[in-house]
Amino acid sequence: MIHLSNKSLEGIRPAAEIISRARQAVVLTGAGISTHSGIPDFRSPGSGLWTRNDPIEVATLDSFRYNPENFFNWIRPLVSGMHAAQPNAAHLALAKLEQSGFVNTIITQNVDGLHHRAGATNILEVHGSMRTMTCVSCFRRYDSSDFLVAYLESGEIPHCEICSHILKPDVILFGEQLPIRTWMKAQDVSKHCDLMIVAGSSLEVLPVAGLPMRAIENGAHLIIINNTVTYLDVRADVVFHEDVIDIIPLIAREVFHE
Ligand code: ZN
Repeated sequence: MIHLSNKSLEGIRPAAEIISRARQAVVLTGAGISTHSGIPDFRSPGSGLWTRNDPIEVATLDSFRYNPENFFNWIRPLVSGMHAAQPNAAHLALAKLEQSGFVNTIITQNVDGLHHRAGATNILEVHGSMRTMTCVSCFRRYDSSDFLVAYLESGEIPHCEICSHILKPDVILFGEQLPIRTWMKAQDVSKHCDLMIVAGSSLEVLPVAGLPMRAIENGAHLIIINNTVTYLDVRADVVFHEDVIDIIPLIAREVFHE
């Protein structure tokens, strides 16, 4: 049984009305939407990943090149979690809103591919994705699934079939640039939307955390659903300090008059 505050319950209908009226709605999702699918928030302290290793030592491009074994050992729990994970009710509700035209674009900080697996199609993965891997030498790109399953089973690091150099998951490491085309598109849709919905992001990781500011500066409405406070709560039309998995399906039902 979900226990929501009265304030949250009262926010469902206004949020649904804003979504129904919007012509260009953009959703920005963060780790909070995937923790309910069992995926650790690998950028947050205390998630288990950062506590065992210094991220600067393992999760940078230089350290990947210098010591890929170390990197793959570090990322193994994340790969394993993603392999077992299924999209949850929040991913599914967002996909339904997107497929029905109520949401135009989903910008995500997550690398787990769960929005795709939930059935959404217009997705901008601004921190990259584990769904594909690229050879560090010849830049040939591969679908990750077979490689990562083999890696989880045997511990063997994936290598390029053509030139046999190491394959790097297409996730953005510390010190790496965001994927430029995806990032430019994310900035563009944020600037031109009339509604931004922040879902499961504490808006702490720059530069992505600046996108909602860009939206409201251009007059967009703002809805925030996150279990902790964000720097933009005071600027939002509706704020839910709840888990996204409890709120998004309720808002979607209201939008669809179910
Ligand atoms: Zn290669």
